[in-house]
Amino acid sequence: MAIVPSQLLTPPTDFNSFLGNTAAIEQLRTAIAQGRLPHSLILSGPAGAGKYTLALMLAMAVECERQPRELRSYSVATGSEGQSLAGFCGVCRNCTRIATAFNLNEEVDKAVAAREELREVDKKETRVLIQPHPDVLVIPPDPPQLLIKLGQVRSIIQSAHYLPAEAPRKIFILTASSFMKEAANSLLKILEEPPATVHILILSENPGELLPTIRSRCATVRLGALPVEEIEMLLSDRRHDVPPKQRTLIARLAQGAAGRALGFDLATYTSARADAMLLLHQATQEPDHTALFKMTETYRAGAEGQQKAADLLRTFTLLLEDLLLIQSGTPELVRNTDLRPELERIAHAVTFQWIEQTSRSLDQVWSGMRRNLLRNLSLDAFAGTLATTAR
Ligand SMILES: [Zn+2]
Repeated sequence: MAIVPSQLLTPPTDFNSFLGNTAAIEQLRTAIAQGRLPHSLILSGPAGAGKYTLALMLAMAVECERQPRELRSYSVATGSEGQSLAGFCGVCRNCTRIATAFNLNEEVDKAVAAREELREVDKKETRVLIQPHPDVLVIPPDPPQLLIKLGQVRSIIQSAHYLPAEAPRKIFILTASSFMKEAANSLLKILEEPPATVHILILSENPGELLPTIRSRCATVRLGALPVEEIEMLLSDRRHDVPPKQRTLIARLAQGAAGRALGFDLATYTSARADAMLLLHQATQEPDHTALFKMTETYRAGAEGQQKAADLLRTFTLLLEDLLLIQSGTPELVRNTDLRPELERIAHAVTFQWIEQTSRSLDQVWSGMRRNLLRNLSLDAFAGTLATTAR
């Protein structure tokens, strides 16, 4: 779903351009100013909340050659007076190099393309890593499985043993929290005793998927959802192409994530949702096998198909959540506002148990995708379960 990787398409110039979550940001800036940013930190929050943008901003604040400070007469984070907040200059050699990594998707594409150029034997051994600065390493989930792999964690461990070369600290940013098992165990070792010059930041949409032993060794900072009204204002300010009546819809669908709202591609979403509705109708209407087959046929193997399937499943999850909101008597919170009458009809035709079971089957499709099965096959099976469990 064409989500922009960072809150802004150009590198931010200071922390004040970060939208929302003021208390959490101040808490982190205060910690950096006092030299006590945790060595292991989980930044959690929904997709598009700005986790990656914030991680790079924190990296800049730690590594900046000029170390600017901002004095707050009153701090939201601590409730105290005269707080000094860390900032970054954005123009020194450390800041500018780190800023080159702001467009995460583009950097990942470049790294994947470079790997494709390698000989077959080397390809297997090469993991996707992004290094904007000698002391800053960004570790995205490695395609096609999109998990963080052992080779990537080994790169962290190797590099962490050396002192920083050109900046005060070494910073490792893991952009997701889904790990291969051996990779998670290996990361645990360095989290047990991180070198004093090292900061490891794990960005997570769902910290629950991390090993409890990893979670317990990290501090966690959560980026909460922004209110719908705030996102609508942001859209009217920055997305002039979006007609006013679609702003509400996008604001709801972005689930409180500013970056997601700004980069929201309504056309792609609507098309994924049409397919998700077709699946949903398997449960409440006489199944239309021809239409279903035609639809699942369009979900092919490969990176593009995987993206398309991921969009479909995410959309389907939102629809299920809307059904729950209607069933629990809070239809005003429905996010697919334009489909509300249709969703109300479906919500009355299915049981709570059906929604629960369907969301479990959905988890299985996700993990099937992780194991890289043929996408259309697992979608067909999923559609089958929906039809049989509804009645
Ligand atoms: Zn700087």
